Amino acid sequence: MTDKEKKIKCPICKNPSEMDKEQNPYLPFCSERCRTIDLGAWLDGKYFIESDEFFMDSEM
Ligand SMILES: [Zn+2]
Repeated sequence: MTDKEKKIKCPICKNPSEMDKEQNPYLPFCSERCRTIDLGAWLDGKYFIESDEFFMDSEM
């Protein structure tokens, strides 16, 4: 066991991401990309609830 190997799993891509904030400012995500994906998914969910008209349209 070494303290140097401090890694966590990125909640988006499940890849190991750096725990060191100086190396990885996007904690707990591995990169800016995954952080953006997480934010996008959150916004998507909100939009989905508000736009059920689109849902009815696709039933035809
Ligand atoms: Zn990631």
